Amino acid sequence: MQINFWNKQIETASRDEINDIQLRRLKNIVKQAYKSEFYKKKFHKAGIESPEDIKTLEDIQKFPFTTKNDLRQNYPAGLLASDFDDVVRIHSSSGTTGVPTVIYLSGEDMDCWTDLVARSLVATGCTKSDVFQNMMTYGLFTGGLGLHYGAERVGMAVLPIGGGNTIRQVRYMQDFNTTTLHITPSYLLHIYGKLDDFNTKIEDLSLKRAITGAEPHTEQTRKKLEELYNMPCYNSYGLSEMNGPGVAFECVYRNGMHIWEDGFIAEIINPETGEVLPDGEKGELVLTNLTRTAMPLLRYRTRDLCHIYDSDCPCGRTHRRLSRIMGRTDDMMIINGVNVFPSQIEEVVMNIPEVGTNYQIVLTKKGAIDKLIVKVEIYSKMFSGDASQLDSLNRKICEELKASIFVNPVVQIHEPGTLPTFEGKAKRVIDMREEI
Ligand SMILES: [Zn+2]
Repeated sequence: MQINFWNKQIETASRDEINDIQLRRLKNIVKQAYKSEFYKKKFHKAGIESPEDIKTLEDIQKFPFTTKNDLRQNYPAGLLASDFDDVVRIHSSSGTTGVPTVIYLSGEDMDCWTDLVARSLVATGCTKSDVFQNMMTYGLFTGGLGLHYGAERVGMAVLPIGGGNTIRQVRYMQDFNTTTLHITPSYLLHIYGKLDDFNTKIEDLSLKRAITGAEPHTEQTRKKLEELYNMPCYNSYGLSEMNGPGVAFECVYRNGMHIWEDGFIAEIINPETGEVLPDGEKGELVLTNLTRTAMPLLRYRTRDLCHIYDSDCPCGRTHRRLSRIMGRTDDMMIINGVNVFPSQIEEVVMNIPEVGTNYQIVLTKKGAIDKLIVKVEIYSKMFSGDASQLDSLNRKICEELKASIFVNPVVQIHEPGTLPTFEGKAKRVIDMREEI
């Protein structure tokens, strides 16, 4: 397999070299963080008087965690650590509670971010000959602009089309011989169902790969997408608090996402106790951004659940890999006392061959009892009118779900194209329990 590198020296550095870079950068970034009102107070409270207290990488554990709540409470400028004149970009997200969070980037921070995104794209096989159709939302959301600048730095021809308008998306794929898509997995599933309407076949397109991001998805969804489109789909990880995309990315082997460890320190913790867990154990990902000077974030709790593995990757990169995100600590649904993650449901339904490209999870309440309804679309060839066939499919989905999540669901089978669709991030879970 052809392996391309953006910065081979860094990407294949020895563990000692990576540790050296991390320690040097950690000392610098802690020094920088002291300049913000927020960290000055926080460090003082934790009894840390000077950045010189950091002698080894393990010393990072002396620092308290930073949370999303900290960002909200210190909005808009409590975490700003550099002169405002040095800021060249502001990204903000409103979140579900409506209280915004903000990140600031200096010119140098932008440069580091763009470089990591370029490195990530090259790891998936992208070159300057590729045509990159960026179907993520542009604007304050970091997914659009983040990949845009990285793809330009690689030298790809970038189509900044943004999300939505499926007919135009497909037309541009044809007209400009798009080779690489950047898209949410749910939108990629949705488009497949539309190709027939536009009289377009996959063979008419020049697609070589898709970069999927912005929403966690399961291995089953990836498999389905790769079969439908006959191209590799690369998982990526980022979050706006850590600039956005480009934190961790899959290489051509698609066996977990390399975390760019010269840019970030990744820890996995037990979300209840805060205890740091060894590699391989599942827990909450905690990230320290080592290079962002305008607004350093130390030990930021991402609320994303995953694990890290350090086995060798055949691509030769030495940066450890992150598993797929298995859910978020705040995504967890409690259904009649049982903890269920939406990803567990997706894993089951997407593995059933008759199930099509869309599904939805609805929670309601009957008296004191929670009711879980799983709505799935199936492929049209299954709607041949044979009711007993549909009944047995319904039973099969119910049984497989129950065996996986220990909750008895009600399964509803829908015709293709009848469940709500999304041209950006999907909203798969509708929880109506509080409204009833
Ligand atoms: Zn690799």
